[in-house]
Amino acid sequence: MRDVVVIGGGVVGIAVAYELARAGAAVTVLERESELATECSSGNAGMVSSTHAFPIASPTALMQGLRWMWRPDSPFKLRPRTHLLPWLARFTAASTPGRADRAGALLVQLTQLGVELHAELADAGLNESLVRRGLLDAYETEAGIEAGRSEIAARHARGLTGELLSREELLEAEPALSPDLLGGAFYPDEAYCDPLLFARGLAAAATELGVRFRCGVEVLAPAKAGGRIVALETTAGRIAVDQVVLAAGVWSPPLARDIGLYLPIEGAKGYHLEVESQSGTPRLPVYMMESKVVATPLEGRLRLSGTLELDGMDTRVDPVRVGAIRRAGDHHFPAIRGAAVRNVWRGLRPCPPDGLPMIGRVEELENLLVATGHGVGGTTLAPITAQLVREIVQGLPPSVDLELMRPDRFRRLLPSRNRAANGSQAPVPA
Ligand SMILES: Cc1cc2nc3c(=O)[nH]c(=O)nc-3n(C[C@H](O)[C@H](O)[C@H](O)COP(=O)(O)OP(=O)(O)OC[C@H]3O[C@@H](n4cnc5c(N)ncnc54)[C@H](O)[C@@H]3O)c2cc1C
Repeated sequence: MRDVVVIGGGVVGIAVAYELARAGAAVTVLERESELATECSSGNAGMVSSTHAFPIASPTALMQGLRWMWRPDSPFKLRPRTHLLPWLARFTAASTPGRADRAGALLVQLTQLGVELHAELADAGLNESLVRRGLLDAYETEAGIEAGRSEIAARHARGLTGELLSREELLEAEPALSPDLLGGAFYPDEAYCDPLLFARGLAAAATELGVRFRCGVEVLAPAKAGGRIVALETTAGRIAVDQVVLAAGVWSPPLARDIGLYLPIEGAKGYHLEVESQSGTPRLPVYMMESKVVATPLEGRLRLSGTLELDGMDTRVDPVRVGAIRRAGDHHFPAIRGAAVRNVWRGLRPCPPDGLPMIGRVEELENLLVATGHGVGGTTLAPITAQLVREIVQGLPPSVDLELMRPDRFRRLLPSRNRAANGSQAPVPA
């Protein structure tokens, strides 16, 4: 096996490093922060889920997004700007029923494998925080019940399990929920974990296998010669490379651009807030259908996560939207009303416009592998992404068809200013 340098020590980079080291590669991970998994992989909702893995681009998402755009406390925000137009054009093109259906089928396949691999890791003692008790949906309104009914039918059509619950059944399954709710659904095959514990636990296992994690080393630019990356310019000097995996989440596009690869990934900001656990906080994770907030019971605390803001790389916290998450939590769980907020977190999901990750090689660069763009599902998808990367490196047939996930599947709509200025690089074909 060849020597591999992984750029990015989030959950995806860590999982890739672990998997490659297990297969015998000498792996180094370069992470610009002083610790691993401090960004999007640290504070997400921790769902390890295939039932809720919808592609972000679909006819429903498009309509809902347009309605929500104008509400300051809605779960979705879009800051209009010209830079976003090409991404939005691709998002709209990917939102046709046919494309959304193909993307949805692929996401179900990927996430089911992800859920299975998480269970295997847990059985091997590598994800001790994984809880396999299922996931609840909770509905506040008749419209929510109707939406839930059609979502369950769509899930059944894809071979996923789940059943509608009456209000009484919902409260029996999770007594912490408010009796004001109208009903819900139960998905028995779903799991969740503490995403930070999972990522750091896997990193510890990778270290034992010989992976070298170099934190505080930022990759500044890849150096290309003769159709391959020959070195990485970093804050710790020039590092010669054999094989490179780009797993820098939402920060991948500028590094890719330097080597002529176009990755249309937008940051989709989300928040969590946490309150101390107390008697009356839930035992099961709950997805609140109308507000799109997830409640995750973690050690000593309840995490409430939500919102998707297409606001570029802006990491400021919007108190109005965090307030809406809090109100949804209070409405669903009477026991937390009045409980002090322990912390507020934000993270940038790396979102391609069609909602599918970018995994695979790039024609122009023989020794580059891309593993990014995991959007709303990177914790679930990290183990299967790592398996696919390992299969590619080993020259094995990939266990999932990679065609729809090709990193170079998007054609540039407008000429890049850099290219136009120096004219030195040919456009990357779609
Ligand atoms: C509110 C919210 C809820 C979510 N809930 C879930 C969920 O329930 N289940 C789920 O599966 N997913 C969920 N996600 C999505 C998930 O968090 C992401 O898909 C995942 O964390 C992406 O992982 P990553 O490793 O690609 O990116 P990141 O975690 O962002 O890691 C990228 C790393 O690269 C490093 N880096 C960047 N540039 C450089 C450079 N130049 N040199 C060196 N290092 C660099 C960064 O410092 C960072 O550590 C959620 C996200 C949010 C925001």
